[in-house]
Amino acid sequence: MKHRYLIAIGLVFLTLAPLVLPTYQVTLLNYIGLYALVVLGLILLTGVGGMTSFGQAAFVGLGAYTTAYLTTTEQLPAWLSWTAGSPWLALLVGITLTAAVALFLGALTLRLSGHYLPLGTIAWGISLYYLFGTMSSMGGHTGISGLPSLSFFGLLLDKGEKIFYLIWVILLLAIWITSNLLNSREGRAIRALKGGQLMAESMGVNTFRSKMVIFLISALFAAISGWLYAHTQRFVNPTPFGLHMGIDYLFMALIGGVGSVWGALVGAGVLTMLKQWLQDWLPLIMGSNGQYETIVFGLLIVFMMQRSPGGLWPLLVKLVPMRWRIQQHILINENVDNLSRRPLPEKGELLLEAHDVTRRFGGLVANNKMNLSLHAGEVLALIGPNGAGKSTMFNQLSAVDTPSDGEVIFMGTSLQGKSSRQVANMGMSRTFQHVKLLPTMTVLENVALGAHMRGSKGVMSAALHREREEEQRLLKEAKYQLERVGLGDHLYAEAGSLALGQQRILEIARALCADPCVLLLDEPAAGLRFKEKQALAQLLTKLKEEGLAILLVEHDMDFVMNLVDRIVVMEFGEKIAEGKPEEIQTNPAVLEAYLGGEE
Ligand code: ADP
Ligand code: MG
Repeated sequence: MKHRYLIAIGLVFLTLAPLVLPTYQVTLLNYIGLYALVVLGLILLTGVGGMTSFGQAAFVGLGAYTTAYLTTTEQLPAWLSWTAGSPWLALLVGITLTAAVALFLGALTLRLSGHYLPLGTIAWGISLYYLFGTMSSMGGHTGISGLPSLSFFGLLLDKGEKIFYLIWVILLLAIWITSNLLNSREGRAIRALKGGQLMAESMGVNTFRSKMVIFLISALFAAISGWLYAHTQRFVNPTPFGLHMGIDYLFMALIGGVGSVWGALVGAGVLTMLKQWLQDWLPLIMGSNGQYETIVFGLLIVFMMQRSPGGLWPLLVKLVPMRWRIQQHILINENVDNLSRRPLPEKGELLLEAHDVTRRFGGLVANNKMNLSLHAGEVLALIGPNGAGKSTMFNQLSAVDTPSDGEVIFMGTSLQGKSSRQVANMGMSRTFQHVKLLPTMTVLENVALGAHMRGSKGVMSAALHREREEEQRLLKEAKYQLERVGLGDHLYAEAGSLALGQQRILEIARALCADPCVLLLDEPAAGLRFKEKQALAQLLTKLKEEGLAILLVEHDMDFVMNLVDRIVVMEFGEKIAEGKPEEIQTNPAVLEAYLGGEE
């Protein structure tokens, strides 16, 4: 409820601001709004998605120059003449052009890892800047002047006090769209980009597509900001679209707080005001020559990043007393239909086979001619000393890695050339030896990510919140799986706050959310207490009885011996024994190589 009041106060302030504030301050607010729109895109791209871009200013320029050219050129080329000097049609062209450029640049750069992406963004930032400056039809470095004012249903927005409303309505809409998107199935996939790509792919997320989506959105926000800017100033030149501005935008995102949509407003606001004050006051203190504000500014930013790397927004939130904070519990509606389930195969049906799978890492043979098979309704354990090659084998079986020789066949299809995402789609789901979850996301959302493939609503419906029914079904499934594994009391805890054993169980719930027929578990009992191990064994037995095929890597021999149907023993990358638990326990080779060493 308090949340509502806060928003209402904000809206009243925004409505009254242009009526009561001096023109100079309204202009400042306009700039803050324009910057915040760009920064919002950056928060999505850099803060949430983990992709640093210095090139946003160039997209702002694209939006601004498109409309400047289309609305001031006397004789437009025939194929553009339909725009007829209308700023709104120019916006349409600007958006289309920006989308095309962003898709092209994204396809070139988003697959690059590490520093290549930021470097790529610098490159395009600089080249677009020089393009604006050198094209004579764009007015060169002097720019283009005489842009028309916007008009809105006959209302001419020719003053700062008027265009103010358009800027802020668009910004608030963009904030709404962005936070809708982040709180959706697509949003979970986006939030997994930073630090969870391998895991997300295994859950069936197309991470490249998710990257492209936020790259596109951030470019479009920037272009719309540029369009608004051009018609606010009614004049454009290349200066505000250069690299230095690209860096400023990034600063604003860092200062505001890279994780929250409202950080965009804080960052743009603080940086703009601070710059203004420093420009006004520093010359009085230090004398008039020298651009001291840049230096002071840089120092302030370094200081702030030291003190609060997460930006100002989290600090502001901390200032609010606990009982005032908005507890954003996602509501789960139990009345929606269940998600449909895939028909499980007949018990005993052969689901997964490895044929002479060999994996070499340089000279090291981590898997050597490994053969195994897994049937529906069976639990198979893969055991062996550390470094035997069990995890490597797991990665071959789930198409996270590709065998150097031999092949894996899943449901009658060779996994040669298949991605882990496709394999996930075919019904294989897995957990990881080193737990891979998104620590700041709730337990519920982490598990809902597992159900990604079972939803189909896209970015558009997510942004407009038209997918609530499907979202409820996904969340209901996540809750059901969490209750099933015994984590029903922790739905809204941050996943990172769980004990390691519980995090492993969370991964099992996430894997179950994908509705698999084959479950691969890499050391599921590691870090569990005795009671928890018993509960896990019960759960796995139940799943097996339902007809799932389970393959697990495990060190705890008591756990394995009482649970599984068959065991494959590995040493130095090779299979040294295979059989029922009681056979393995008495197998001399195994005792020698593995159990013998421990007893
Ligand atoms: P286990 O899971 O049985 O403990 P692993 O499959 O993790 O064993 O490792 C088997 C061997 O392969 C080890 O010697 C390990 O160092 C090596 N290995 C695993 N992954 C890689 C890799 N990506 N590059 C090089 N060597 C690797
Ligand atoms: Mg391992």
